[in-house]
Amino acid sequence: MNGPARIQLLSPRLANQIAAGEVVERPASVAKELLENSLDAGARRIDIEVEQGGVKLLRIRDDGCGIAADDLPLALARHATSKIRDLEDLERVTSLGFRGEALASIGSVARLTLTSRTAGAGQAWQVETEGRDMEARVQPAAHPAGTSVEVRDLFFNTPARRKFLRAEKTEFEHLQEVIRRLALARFDVAFHLRHNGRSALALHEAGDETARARRVAAVCGPAFLEQALPIEVERGGLRLWGWVGLPTFSRSQADLQYFYVNGRMVRDKLVAHAVRQAYRDVLFNGRHPAFVLFLEVDPAVVDVNVHPTKHEVRFRDSRMIHDFLYGTLHHALGEVRPEDRLAAPA
Ligand code: ADP
Ligand code: MG
Repeated sequence: MNGPARIQLLSPRLANQIAAGEVVERPASVAKELLENSLDAGARRIDIEVEQGGVKLLRIRDDGCGIAADDLPLALARHATSKIRDLEDLERVTSLGFRGEALASIGSVARLTLTSRTAGAGQAWQVETEGRDMEARVQPAAHPAGTSVEVRDLFFNTPARRKFLRAEKTEFEHLQEVIRRLALARFDVAFHLRHNGRSALALHEAGDETARARRVAAVCGPAFLEQALPIEVERGGLRLWGWVGLPTFSRSQADLQYFYVNGRMVRDKLVAHAVRQAYRDVLFNGRHPAFVLFLEVDPAVVDVNVHPTKHEVRFRDSRMIHDFLYGTLHHALGEVRPEDRLAAPA
């Protein structure tokens, strides 16, 4: 009789590849993780270079704080992060990342090169993964202060996952959407995107209100901005600001809905419900509102550690958040001029 199969520890690479299954679905998800790292590093300008929809090459370069040479191998290791140290930090986390998994995961399913230079350092240093188990060889490199992460040949060593990739155009569209979401979250950062050698998007730093509106128009289209209501309300420690599309700018799909909680874009049932209720009287059935909204709350009353991709959040007092959102939006839409309003169907 055979006994049970013996239990073995997974190799670090396999453990990382399994973890990668949760966060690295396509080039767009790689871009999201790398861009969030750049933003966490305090970057003011981010350059994104893409070849073949990001499958062949995705290179993200920032002018952030950089990584010390001694820390470079750790940056590629799993469960290694500079962003939190203890449970208390986790409960008050304000950075976009904190799981310490992205670079390890991406490096296990692609050829990853990390090059970085801190402001004080005399030169830059580099580490590579080649999809193998992490090798701690740090080599000198040329790079200005900041960090570049180059990801080549995504899923080259995991053919089963590679099969799920779509056409170059589709992958690039997903990638652009990721950049749009982050560009709306951070008006103070410049984003430059190149695809196959050509400029695809150039967003300059948007310091004042006019420049912010210009960025919203660049990202969501000028028609949205022309038919949107700017709002800004603060009450009971909650602040909501942004733009809500007038009923005349309703959409057949829910494709222009950007909602941020403390700078992090989320898709939340509670939020969606509050918004839907607020628009109920002014939108035809089956039509979807367009909005770009930013909710700012005390980080201690919202839990972002719900899902590895961090698209979901949990509010401590969800009723209060719901009522605040509904109340604010309902009021704003109630002020809409009659000519901008559509009659509700009988
Ligand atoms: P996390 O973001 O959850 O900490 P990552 O695997 O994404 O985990 O990154 C690991 C660490 O590498 C980060 O905590 C950070 O210290 C460093 N790092 C990654 N990307 C950058 C960057 N663009 N600039 C500066 N440091 C970075
Ligand atoms: Mg990260």
